[in-house]
Amino acid sequence: MGATVAVAFLPWKTGFLKKIAVMAVFVFLANLPDAPVPWWGHTRYDISHSIFVNGLLAAAVAVPLAFYLRSRRVAGAGTLVAGGALAWLSHLLLDTFYNHGKGLAVFWPFGSGRVALPVPWFKTLNGHPLLPQIDAYTARLYLIEMAFYGTLFALALVIRWLIERRFSRRTAAG
Ligand SMILES: [Zn+2]
Repeated sequence: MGATVAVAFLPWKTGFLKKIAVMAVFVFLANLPDAPVPWWGHTRYDISHSIFVNGLLAAAVAVPLAFYLRSRRVAGAGTLVAGGALAWLSHLLLDTFYNHGKGLAVFWPFGSGRVALPVPWFKTLNGHPLLPQIDAYTARLYLIEMAFYGTLFALALVIRWLIERRFSRRTAAG
């Protein structure tokens, strides 16, 4: 999902390696709420998956970073930083898709309400996320995720490519 958001927001006219680097950063950002650090991640799901906490942290990083990049006249800095924040926060939306049944509590510390947008074919892994059990269940789960997020990524690439092509044609004509 991070890579898909990156495709939508990254400056199109940069080199291939720079694009890959931006994608890697966006993938990292999209996984931040699950980062295994004290008082965060799966040990403190309430804090790490709070829309308020993540929104505040994202803003605390994004606003100074946007000003810094603008002062250095980096092209498309605002768009890039906004995209990064979106990739970060997309994690919360995606987690509500999974079939925990209970939904995701995102309102800490102001409320205990849960948001559940379950997509029935998304299942959660058995065992540790980095060392999942290797069985037919896990294989199927990965295939479904690859098909879904892979399609989304490919779709984003095609749409962005078409938009850029149209734009460059128009500027060439004008
Ligand atoms: Zn999560």
